[in-house]
Amino acid sequence: MHKIEAKTILSAENGMNVYRGCTHGCIYCDSRSECYQFTHSFEDIAYKENAPALLERALRTKRRKCMIGTGSMCDPYLPAERELLLTRRCLELIAQYDFGAAVLTKSDLILRDLDLLRQINTQQKAVVQMTLTTFDEDLCRILEPNVCTTERRFRVLQTMRENGIPTVVWLCPLLPYINDTEENLRGILQYCIEAGVRGIVCFGIGMTLRAGSREYFFSALDRHFPGLRQRYAHEFGTAYEIVSPQHTRLMRIFHDTCETHGILHTPEQCFAYLNELPEPFEQLTLW
Ligand code: SF4
Repeated sequence: MHKIEAKTILSAENGMNVYRGCTHGCIYCDSRSECYQFTHSFEDIAYKENAPALLERALRTKRRKCMIGTGSMCDPYLPAERELLLTRRCLELIAQYDFGAAVLTKSDLILRDLDLLRQINTQQKAVVQMTLTTFDEDLCRILEPNVCTTERRFRVLQTMRENGIPTVVWLCPLLPYINDTEENLRGILQYCIEAGVRGIVCFGIGMTLRAGSREYFFSALDRHFPGLRQRYAHEFGTAYEIVSPQHTRLMRIFHDTCETHGILHTPEQCFAYLNELPEPFEQLTLW
């Protein structure tokens, strides 16, 4: 782990990543792809020590309140966050400056910051997003080895619901011949229904692979699923988008189930919800 001085913290879409790199070890991780130009090992976490200072400056000068997102590139609740508290300090600033927050993680460490999420949600809006890929707990320990498993993440979603904090689930990736099954899909959807999630982001039944992530994924296949690397190579070659043969059938189940239970289920619906910050009451009042 090493610290770096960042020049800016917020992207044009008001997203931020206080860490670069990740130790959760997901075998399908796209963030380790070569295109992101890591100059150090992906597990050697670079933390932006000046992230809170940069964020405070950015929030102070913003003309309009908005949702601030984190977690799209690297998980904001890495084990290192326990001591570094960078994500927590950023949430404190988001609360202090009265912005909204949309946080994406796989880790139950987010429960530590429940007080801040509640405060932000009371003042503006906070949305907790969790990635769920695998209903089978043993399989989850293989696919996402260094972070809490799906059942625990489901408990986190329930806790958020009990605290009035809306949630969105990212249902991806679904890896061909591994977790692209109806049983897996229905299991995760049942968790989402029970936890009362507002939306589910699912881009399709499949995954993406490119230089850097492909080699890491294939070596994991060799360790845990002998023979599957060869099947992938034969069926998908070096394609970036890997579409499961189950895509059409499972997407129908996905959309039908979400529709029945009133869950937002297209990426457009989910992103519109995540980015939307309701106008303050005063601004709506006609004088
Ligand atoms: S949590 Fe996200 S960034 Fe970290 S290893 Fe998994 S997929 Fe990659």
